[in-house]
Amino acid sequence: MKLQGKTLDKSIVLCRACDLAVSKRALPSGVRALCPRCHTALYDTPYCSINGMLALCLAAVFLYFPANLLPVLEIHFLGNIRNTTVIQGAIAVIDQGYWVVGIAVLLAAVVAPGLLLLSVLFQILIIKFGRRSVFLKTSLKQLLKRQNLVTQFTMLEIYMLGFLVSAFNLSDFSDIYFSVGSFCFTMLFVVTLFLQREYNLEHMWSFVDD
Ligand SMILES: [Zn+2]
Repeated sequence: MKLQGKTLDKSIVLCRACDLAVSKRALPSGVRALCPRCHTALYDTPYCSINGMLALCLAAVFLYFPANLLPVLEIHFLGNIRNTTVIQGAIAVIDQGYWVVGIAVLLAAVVAPGLLLLSVLFQILIIKFGRRSVFLKTSLKQLLKRQNLVTQFTMLEIYMLGFLVSAFNLSDFSDIYFSVGSFCFTMLFVVTLFLQREYNLEHMWSFVDD
């Protein structure tokens, strides 16, 4: 963070309630720092355990493929059975002429989450095993610079909502069954949510400076 050419000291936090300057220090997980003067919660640091993030990231990568390749919905309509995957759904929307919507779905539900998971996985692997190599360290910097952009495009939750709403609307006149893909997609959404909660960009940058 830079302000008028001067670098701000990241180790000082201001209390939101009484503006007391408190120097930040590492906390054991599950512990929250309180303001010594007014006891307002200042920060809690159970974030960015590298091994925890690696486990979440690997789980998400394993769920990513079945979530996108297996059918999410099975529609039974007048003896007709139809399966559809997320990608097929998006392509069907593009075929009907709504290509902006189709591309947005592909981008937000397939491409961006994939890029996010790959990017976080590489960052963790570089921090764990490759911090001595100059090339890997530069790659880590490039990944961290683009992290916010990739996160903003990842909208699994919007896709989940749209998918549930349409399933319940369709269930009025046809039988809808959730398939394996929808289970994997929901789990992918939950695991990615936890991963994003655990991930802290500022903390990741501190590994570059070391
Ligand atoms: Zn205070």
